[in-house]
Amino acid sequence: MILTDTHLHLHFPQYDADRAAVIDRAVKNGFRYLLNIGTGLEDSKKAVAIAEQYPQIYAAIGYHPHEAKTASSSDLAELAKLLAHPKVVAIGEVGLDYFHDHSPRDVQETILRTFLEWYQKSRKPLIIHCRDAYEPLLKILTETVPPPYRGVLHCFSSDAATMKKFTELGFYIAFGGALTYKKNDALRDACRVCPKERLLLETDAPYLAPQSRRGQRNEPLYLVETAECAAGLHGMGLEPMAALTTANAERLFGLC
Ligand SMILES: [Zn+2]
Ligand SMILES: [Zn+2]
Repeated sequence: MILTDTHLHLHFPQYDADRAAVIDRAVKNGFRYLLNIGTGLEDSKKAVAIAEQYPQIYAAIGYHPHEAKTASSSDLAELAKLLAHPKVVAIGEVGLDYFHDHSPRDVQETILRTFLEWYQKSRKPLIIHCRDAYEPLLKILTETVPPPYRGVLHCFSSDAATMKKFTELGFYIAFGGALTYKKNDALRDACRVCPKERLLLETDAPYLAPQSRRGQRNEPLYLVETAECAAGLHGMGLEPMAALTTANAERLFGLC
């Protein structure tokens, strides 16, 4: 089986005790790519440092909307230099989180617009974090950059109608452990009708472990449970789903 985890945070302290073992388990079990995602300046540097150590690991650099309030202009200038790093294949995570509101909304928006400028210049794909803000996201995107877009809505958490709007504009949709949660029928409906060529899978590890391990620390290996769920929704076997979503990730992020 060939798997790809398109969104995780291997540099987080939750892995300090056994990081190499977690990565080894993933590699031995067929993970071809792991995309390690930064959430701020120092955090993005850590994400890239791990990507430098393993051929299977790539990185993305950005400011999570939670951290947007901490981004100074000098931080952003320093981060921009990392964009040319050969293992940095995407911009993110960036976006809007109106559920937690850890940064003021106007600050989240300003930072998002900055990264959209980087996107236009670099043409590296976007990894978007969006929580309870899909309409404002759509407005900011279309005001700033004309579609079609090259990017992914990570940890998608809305319904089939929203999925359709974004896939029509070019976005890929990444489903994570929440796909397996008992009450998430609307999310499973969105996955069922998501065009196959736009499907991606992710763990968002250490967060959002799938149903059978809900509440525990997540890791790439647990992606299999989410992949099985997505495979069932699309009437396919696990291995074809793993291969399909890996091929989609290769295309979007220019891997291989
Ligand atoms: Zn996120
Ligand atoms: Zn994340």
